[in-house]
Amino acid sequence: ILMKNAEAAMYRAKQQGRNHYQYYLAPEKTEAQIERFAMEAMLRKALEKDELLVYYQPRVNTKSESVVCVEALVRWQHPTLGIVAPKDFIPLAEETGLIVQLGEQVLRKACKQIKKWQDEGMDELSVSVNLSPLQFRQQHLPGVIARILRQAGLKPRFLELEITESAAMQNVNRNILMLRELKEMGVKISIDDFGTGYSSLSYLKKFPIDALKVDRSFISGIHEDPDDAAIVNAIIALAKTLKLNVTAEGVETESQYLYLQQHRCDEAQGYLFGKPMPPETFEEWYKLNMR
Ligand code: C2E
Ligand code: CA
Ligand code: CA
Ligand code: CA
Repeated sequence: ILMKNAEAAMYRAKQQGRNHYQYYLAPEKTEAQIERFAMEAMLRKALEKDELLVYYQPRVNTKSESVVCVEALVRWQHPTLGIVAPKDFIPLAEETGLIVQLGEQVLRKACKQIKKWQDEGMDELSVSVNLSPLQFRQQHLPGVIARILRQAGLKPRFLELEITESAAMQNVNRNILMLRELKEMGVKISIDDFGTGYSSLSYLKKFPIDALKVDRSFISGIHEDPDDAAIVNAIIALAKTLKLNVTAEGVETESQYLYLQQHRCDEAQGYLFGKPMPPETFEEWYKLNMR
């Protein structure tokens, strides 16, 4: 759908500026470039017009069975297209650099929302927010985060930043310094989609991180593929050895959850407990499921 809309924009752009575009672009490059340009313009406008929503998905402690944290997941509420999923705009946001601004909006919204929920009685609720590799490369990231936390009135220990393995493994020495700075502020750090990238385990030991999130692809195979079960067990064991918290992503069935409980995985997240929800829906979910 998004492509269709960008196509329409592209069509208009082409009609208005036909000669202009043909003047400086090779014909085979024109369409793709205009389409990209149209989509970028749409996304830029979305950021200006505050069309981004943050949904929240619960993360459950497998021992206490209570919600300890919610993951903030962005959605784009487009005036005519409706709710657009991250896979349809995050890649473009990354390519164009708009992800930095987008990511800051998500951080700001998430921190404010959690503070509000804490004030309403969910005292110990934390939030985890995804950080794009580009954001993570920003030298002034700790300052940006400190300001957002201060403005929201949220204590740093209630914010967890999720970075992917590949982002963490690029420029390791610099990242260690950056992570240390964030950690000294009191913010928590987790490695997202763990097991899918290539992590050097020796570096993992050096990183001042707090948690691993086991990628969904291994959880879905727990009962079908002995290799997946073995990988999940190995990651849990690794996390215990390194004294890291471990969360299973994409838990969809009771039997997967039972397996994770039995194998001492600390936390679980997935459709079994709840899909990512808008704030009002999460409040209702919380009232129904937690007391
Ligand atoms: P992720 O960080 O790995 O987030 C988990 C994704 O898995 C979410 O997709 C969530 O809806 C989905 N999921 C959760 N439980 C289940 C389950 O039980 N089964 C299945 N099949 N899926 C489940 P979503 O919200 O579409 O986000 C996709 C990706 O987009 C995220 O993957 C993350 O990489 C990226 N993303 C989302 N929000 C942000 C953001 O604010 N900033 C950045 N940089 N990336 C974001
Ligand atoms: Ca994540
Ligand atoms: Ca993930
Ligand atoms: Ca992911």
